Amino acid sequence: MALDTLDIGILSVVLAALIGYFAKDLIKSLLSSNDSTNVSTDSRDLVEVLNETGKKAIVFYGSQTGTAEDYAHKYAKELQTRFQVPTICCDIADYDFDKLGALPSEVDGFKFVTFFMATYGEGEPTDNAVDFFDYLDNECDSLEGLKYLVFGLGNSTYEFYNAISKRLDKKLSELGASNISVPGFGDDGTATMDEDYLAWKESIFDVLKDHLSLEEHDVKYQPSIKLIPRPDLSIENPIVSLGEPNSKYINPTTEETKNAIQYGPFDHTHPYLSPIVKSKELFNSETRHCIHAEFDFSQTNLKYSTGDHLAIWPSNSNEEVEKFLKAFNLISKRNDVIGFETLDQTVSLPFSSPITYEAIVRHHLEISGPVSRQFLQSVHQFAPTEEIKADIARISGHKEIFSKEVTEKYFNIADILVNISKGSSWDDIPFEFLIESIPHLQPRYYSISSSSLSEKQTVHVTAVVENEKPQGSDHFVTGVTTNLLRHIQLAQSKSDLKPNVTYDLDGPRNLFKPFKLPVHIRRSTFKLPTNPATPIILVGPGTGVAPFRGFIREKVKQAESGNNKIGKILLFYGSRSVNEDFLYKNEWPEYSKKLGENFELITAFSRDQKEKIYVQHRMLEYSKEINDLLQKGAFFYVCGDASRMARDVQATLVKILIAERNITEEIANNVVRGFKTSNRFQEDVW
Ligand code: FAD
Repeated sequence: MALDTLDIGILSVVLAALIGYFAKDLIKSLLSSNDSTNVSTDSRDLVEVLNETGKKAIVFYGSQTGTAEDYAHKYAKELQTRFQVPTICCDIADYDFDKLGALPSEVDGFKFVTFFMATYGEGEPTDNAVDFFDYLDNECDSLEGLKYLVFGLGNSTYEFYNAISKRLDKKLSELGASNISVPGFGDDGTATMDEDYLAWKESIFDVLKDHLSLEEHDVKYQPSIKLIPRPDLSIENPIVSLGEPNSKYINPTTEETKNAIQYGPFDHTHPYLSPIVKSKELFNSETRHCIHAEFDFSQTNLKYSTGDHLAIWPSNSNEEVEKFLKAFNLISKRNDVIGFETLDQTVSLPFSSPITYEAIVRHHLEISGPVSRQFLQSVHQFAPTEEIKADIARISGHKEIFSKEVTEKYFNIADILVNISKGSSWDDIPFEFLIESIPHLQPRYYSISSSSLSEKQTVHVTAVVENEKPQGSDHFVTGVTTNLLRHIQLAQSKSDLKPNVTYDLDGPRNLFKPFKLPVHIRRSTFKLPTNPATPIILVGPGTGVAPFRGFIREKVKQAESGNNKIGKILLFYGSRSVNEDFLYKNEWPEYSKKLGENFELITAFSRDQKEKIYVQHRMLEYSKEINDLLQKGAFFYVCGDASRMARDVQATLVKILIAERNITEEIANNVVRGFKTSNRFQEDVW
């Protein structure tokens, strides 16, 4: 039967309506398996989402490396279980900010907002919080009636300790919002983040009970996701995730996904799978290692600029994966395929599904880092016996006992649980609980050690391998990414040496073969002066020299291209010993040849003589020259260890200014502050 034009018209309208009706749900369900977002509703209107979902509190996070995000999730979960306040937990960038002020009046029963805000770099907001501060500073008129709490995550070894959470608290109260209680400050610099958070949380929960009349309930795990076994699927099925970095990498059959994989755009939600074309060991030591690795971008349009950071997405080592699977009796299920249903409309999975148990453990969970006391407290409810339950309560109930029996022994989750259970596996912990309670594996950042002018399509990194047997520990403690890089380096050079731990270098469905890793570029503000004639003073001991190698390669390229007005470069480099860990030892003389007197390398090898000599000591010897260069407009750069070196270097600079300019300490500090505001003093420290 032929259809006439009218029939076709009517059918098209009906079809369009049907598509429109189902597409909304389809989009939502697709979003719920999205790789990065935590909220699955598609609206950016906070009032609308809260009214639709019945949530009465919001937890926002401004997170760069995932720590603030992790704390925010756990706190939100506890608000929900302890006080039965339906809570939404989300990235601060997920919603339009203009509805913040309307929440108390337009959402029935709305209680409060909590902010978990990390401070990044030089007292800056995290990437996802930049627009929010812009909104508060320039657009927001009033937040009258809004109740809030702030927990800041910072590092007291940095000058601008927790600057962002302090700034937020001040700004919110200036705008008329009221703080339910004083802000909490977590300090990574003293390694007390966890305890700082727990102390703040307990005090907050008391305030919530008293002032908001919230009733406290027994803390019992309430899942936000439900695991659904998928016996109908196996690892051979192309739609099953085996740990691909995100859904685009699973069975990419459309032109769109193929393009996305090759040309991006690449960011923290979608990495480029970059070949490592070259890697080498930089140390001359049997026990300590530092890897130089070169990532090839020639097959994509991904660009970087000198001074940027490379984010490497790691996976866990075979040894840690086995230990974890065994601890939770998952060895026989490792390849079983599972899917998930979200029980809370505002929560979505941080990885693609259907997926296997092993893929989640290997590629998505941070299984080998330190355990938090909070995690142990929350695991209490699943203890296999009363005796184990009592032991968990004993260890997790007191920070001193926890520190002695867990932190000082460098235990990770599998270590401590198997230690407490004396070897038996923890069969009754729901896998959903592990997914919701264990931080998700995050990319690690590396200061790029090449120059985008000289190596346009290759990104170099310089990574010191974290592998130590600390005092008090009976095992080696290994870093995830740096040991992965070392395994790649040994495999690539066909070395007979054994890596400390081993990895599945081929990746899911051989996706990482040969020698590829998922990466993205993080733009940085650590940049050379625009005028090549401006002198620069660089202080970079250890791997802190990484970006300076990039800077100097850039200068060499400029000189090779005929620029004869390169400004003076003073590079202060330090390490333990000239023969053991002098990074890029053979390259510096080459650069000197090209740059002539304009380049001077000043070294400090701390262990090559009786007294320890550090870069700060050498700086003092160059006091006059440093001051002269600064008078001529030099830029001053520090890179490397944030805990002591950066502070000591700044203090040394102040000393130099006092001595050379005959000024007071106060004025010298103001001079350095002035350098910082005019970008003439830049730090890239971690
Ligand atoms: P992780 O797995 O992150 O472990 C971190 C540390 O914890 C390790 O020392 C590890 O041994 C220890 N650890 C593991 N398990 C436990 C446990 N159970 N208990 C206690 N401790 C444990 N690094 C460089 O080498 N070069 C660079 O150029 C560089 N640039 C950086 C730039 C920026 C902006 C930032 C933020 C960091 C930079 N870093 C650099 C540091 C880098 O990002 C990583 O933190 C570092 O390489 C360690 O990563 P990992 O995955 O190997 O260790």
